[in-house]
Amino acid sequence: MERARIATVWLDGCSGCHMSFLDLDEALLVLADRIELVYSPLVDQKEFPENVDVTLVEGSVSSVEDEEKIRRIRSRTKILVSLGDCAVTSNVPSMRNPLKPEAILRRAYIENVTVQAQIPNQDVPPLLPEARPVHETVKVDVFVPGCPPSAGLIGSVLTELLEGRTPDLAGQVRFG
Ligand code: SF4
Repeated sequence: MERARIATVWLDGCSGCHMSFLDLDEALLVLADRIELVYSPLVDQKEFPENVDVTLVEGSVSSVEDEEKIRRIRSRTKILVSLGDCAVTSNVPSMRNPLKPEAILRRAYIENVTVQAQIPNQDVPPLLPEARPVHETVKVDVFVPGCPPSAGLIGSVLTELLEGRTPDLAGQVRFG
């Protein structure tokens, strides 16, 4: 049986949604027989590949790099899943939205620093004016709220998608 090509992506999130995915524990072994993890923070693959069946996206779109990344991912993915409240609503990252990016950078790199305070001009991708949910940049096929979504929920969403069904999450999900 051909394995489904699965990816997971970490944009502006805390990694909690990926930790919840790992909390599937032994259920991961069952999934492992059916999937090939082709890109993820959990594997050493630098370039997002072509022809990905399902991509789980954690985190909001907060920087120019996030925006470029999610557009490329969308163009190479059949089913895009917003995983967790940060991806679905921008949640925690959006707490900075009332402030301008310059004020945030000044606070982080100047006001809270005692040695060599300076705003980096390389290696740190420029911030967008606001952190936004994924679906405001690209089309999202499945929304899985939760902070984080439970391991069981992530497992059932993946199982449904692997069976070729659209997960019916009515009554199963909650924000926060
Ligand atoms: S939804 Fe919650 S657990 Fe997931 S990345 Fe955001 S803050 Fe972390």
